[in-house]
Amino acid sequence: MYLWHTLHLYSAKCKICGEQNLKIFEAVVLKKSLVSYYKCKFCEFVQTDDPFWLNEAYTSAITSQDIGLINRNINFAPLVAKLISFFFSAEIKSVGL
Ligand SMILES: [Zn+2]
Repeated sequence: MYLWHTLHLYSAKCKICGEQNLKIFEAVVLKKSLVSYYKCKFCEFVQTDDPFWLNEAYTSAITSQDIGLINRNINFAPLVAKLISFFFSAEIKSVGL
C-alpha cells in the first residue's frame, strides 16, 4: 500500500552523496509500519527511513511452509559455481569450494 504525497518534503541527507533528499512517498512495511521513501536530488538514489523493521523482517526468513528451499539450492548450485569460477580467480580460497 503506497501513500502518495502531494507535497514533497525534504529529509536527511543522501546516504550515498550527502546531498538533500526529497520525500517521494510512504508505504506500509510488514503490514503495520509506515515508512517514508526518499530520493536524492543529485544522484537519484532511493532510500528509506532508518530500517527499524529489519530485525522483525528477518526473524522468519525460512518458514516451514517453504517446501522448495532445498530444491532451489540444488538447482542453483551449478549456476552459482559457474558464476564464481567466471568472476573470481581460482587462486582465491573459499569455504566449501
Ligand atoms: Zn545522493
